[in-house]
Amino acid sequence: MKLILRFILLFPLILVNGVSRAQLDFSDYFTGERFRYDFVLAGNFEELRVYPLSQKREPHWAGSKKSLVDTMGYGTYRYRVMDDSTGKVIFSRGFCTLAQEWQTTAEAKRSEKAFYQALFFPFPKQKVRLSVDSRNWQGEFVPVFETVVDPADYFIIRDKPEEYEVFTVLGNGLPDTHVDLVFLAEGYTAGEKEKFVMDAARMCENIMNVSPFRENRDKFNIQAVWTPSQEGGTDIPGENIYRNTRFNSTFYTFDVARYLTTSDMRTIYDAVSGVPWDHLLVLVNSERYGGGGFYNFLTVCTAGHALTPKVLVHELGHAFAGLGDEYYDSEVAYENYYNLAVEPWEPNLTTLVDFASKWKHLVPDSIPVPTPRTPEYLTVTGVFEGGGYLSKGIFSPMQNCRMKSNGPEEFCSACKRAILAAIEWHTR
Ligand SMILES: [Zn+2]
Repeated sequence: MKLILRFILLFPLILVNGVSRAQLDFSDYFTGERFRYDFVLAGNFEELRVYPLSQKREPHWAGSKKSLVDTMGYGTYRYRVMDDSTGKVIFSRGFCTLAQEWQTTAEAKRSEKAFYQALFFPFPKQKVRLSVDSRNWQGEFVPVFETVVDPADYFIIRDKPEEYEVFTVLGNGLPDTHVDLVFLAEGYTAGEKEKFVMDAARMCENIMNVSPFRENRDKFNIQAVWTPSQEGGTDIPGENIYRNTRFNSTFYTFDVARYLTTSDMRTIYDAVSGVPWDHLLVLVNSERYGGGGFYNFLTVCTAGHALTPKVLVHELGHAFAGLGDEYYDSEVAYENYYNLAVEPWEPNLTTLVDFASKWKHLVPDSIPVPTPRTPEYLTVTGVFEGGGYLSKGIFSPMQNCRMKSNGPEEFCSACKRAILAAIEWHTR
């Protein structure tokens, strides 16, 4: 009896301690609103610098109130929020940008360029320090910027959010315990609202048809924001086609025909300032093949190509779970993208420098490392040379995957595991 009583008394204490050690109490540090820090990231191939623009208070923090400090360590950049009085890190996120990709192009060696960016975190109750770090060639984060944010500062803009019609495509529950994906209409004219809503519903099914999104459908909310454009379609500079569209999306990013992106982040963020979101997807009204995806930043995809379902899920793999490209035979604009002497941060690529930190536990003992790309090993998890735009020195988890080509419907085992971890991270 005594033993049982002791167990009952101890158990809740252990649990409470375990939870308090692992997590911060959201309400100690943050309100339920969202803080937005706008800046320009500008420079050349050697260095990008942060130039502050504005600070803003927006109505909804849609992210988890438990997953505050990043535990994954992905991204070419990260930002951290520190309590100013104690120095304690109370929020952090890794992310990727178009700016950093541009740095690895030939253009960056002969010119300078600026990119609009914003960082988001729950609105702080007290003064905080915000730092931005970028990854160096050795893969380590080095500081590039630090500032103090005072929530009482009257220069923090408290504008009424822009109002757009918002359609619920998939509704499962509260934003903080669900993954909130938001589609924005790009290149749809005023008369094409119905088409956009139907396209967004189709995109939702394209995502939810693929594992592990499929088994976790009930953990997602998907909304569609109706942001009509002056003209339909998008820019195709290589063919002298220019369209006046809401978010200025364009093919031929870094002069790669299929690479569809937008750098008009200010317009995008303003359009969703009143909407709870975790990940933004710009849906482009075009039948051309293409898209782009950036970790914790943005997904862009056309709605009308036969391969759209596959492109969308591939780009979302980058944006949502930090997955790297497993292909090594397509044209890209990058030069020296990976340092083969260090382990890449992407969960589905390895240089074998620190393979134990990746999917080693998913590889059966009977599988040779590296694993030959032969029919014998077609469906197994192994370590296959080729990935990350290189045929030598970088290895992928399976011979094929949604992150490699438009053949397979599904992700490889390592990619699935990373997506599952991201879903769990958002829905705690
Ligand atoms: Zn994969």
